[in-house]
Amino acid sequence: MNKKAANLILYGMIAGAVLGLMGGLWLGDFMLSIKFLGTMFLNALKMVVVPLVVASIIIGVTSLGDIRKLGRTAGKTLAYYMATTGFSVLVGIILVNLIRPGEGVPPIGAAVPEFVAMKGAGTIVEVIVGLVPDNIFGAAATGKILPLIVFSLLFGGVLTVIGDKGKPVIAFFEGINAAIMKLVLLIIYFAPIGILALIGGIVAENRESVDELLTALGLYSLTVILGLLIHAVITLPTILIFFGRRNPFGYFLNMGQALATAFTTASSSATLPVTMESVEKKNKVDERAASFVLPLGATINMDGTALYEAVAALFIAQIYGIDLSIGAQIIIFFTATLASVGAAAIPEAGLVMMSLVLTAVGLPLEGIGIILAIDWFLDRCRTTVNVWGDSIGAAVISQTKEFQGNNA
Ligand code: ASP
Repeated sequence: MNKKAANLILYGMIAGAVLGLMGGLWLGDFMLSIKFLGTMFLNALKMVVVPLVVASIIIGVTSLGDIRKLGRTAGKTLAYYMATTGFSVLVGIILVNLIRPGEGVPPIGAAVPEFVAMKGAGTIVEVIVGLVPDNIFGAAATGKILPLIVFSLLFGGVLTVIGDKGKPVIAFFEGINAAIMKLVLLIIYFAPIGILALIGGIVAENRESVDELLTALGLYSLTVILGLLIHAVITLPTILIFFGRRNPFGYFLNMGQALATAFTTASSSATLPVTMESVEKKNKVDERAASFVLPLGATINMDGTALYEAVAALFIAQIYGIDLSIGAQIIIFFTATLASVGAAAIPEAGLVMMSLVLTAVGLPLEGIGIILAIDWFLDRCRTTVNVWGDSIGAAVISQTKEFQGNNA
């Protein structure tokens, strides 16, 4: 997508949100009659989730090369990614439970289906058992995405150890991945209309509680932004000081251009060249470390996206008056982390993944209609944190024995 088209869509999304709100208030019946357009938009997002997750994870793993030869660097890099992402999700879950941005809104929309309440009651053992699919097609068909992710990680791993036989399969999934990314961009072209119809429908159905909904949306955005700030200003810089042995202020200033690019493009992969330049040339991080950590990080390390997924899912549960059990929150912890791994590094990919997290605990997908209104902005914020997390990862990994000892 070129810059002009991206800007047009961005303005379209903002206009869609504003018009949807006004239409819902003043032209309620009309808005209800075009609600199906919003449903079609949501369906289109759901349509791409399974192939997107499977292909992007398989490609992510196979891009590491023979996993038996990965050695310590890759192990440490993955440990850094998982630890920081997990930490940011935890911060998000704690904040959304403390602030409870979705509470106080009168139960909205249609009644919550009964199976949702039941699904919340998983124990930890059930969550763990559920990680291994007994039938991958069954898992895909019923929206059980966690087992699908586990399968994709294993499948990608073994593809790297079977030599030439694996190559056509990898190429096949690369093709699928590229095609699905294009499809996501195509779907995004329809986002302005989707947003207009979804927001218009929700507002028309809940005219009396619009004030509460808007306040809730504002509080939700603040919760996401506060979480992102804690992660970006406290957690990551602390890691940089202790494990990367750098001054976070200087490091941050040198990253300025990359972070600004991340904010303007809302895409980690579009930002990658600038990130690499800033990390290697301005921050003078060992190029061997940076050239391994950054491209991989742009694809699979998304701290901001993970935090957003968890906060948004719990916010939607609160809006619909669903009290999620600890088991369900643990599922959200894992799906949000893994959804961020599977999210493509392009604008709004996190939103596509949202349907995955919601489905995992049986929350109503219509909830996406509410958070859509502000997602164009939160996408920019989380992408900036994603890139900041990658850049700090490069500094941390460059301090490991492998790079310090010159034997990488
Ligand atoms: N836009 C984000 C990125 O490229 C992904 C997301 O939508 O959260 O990093």
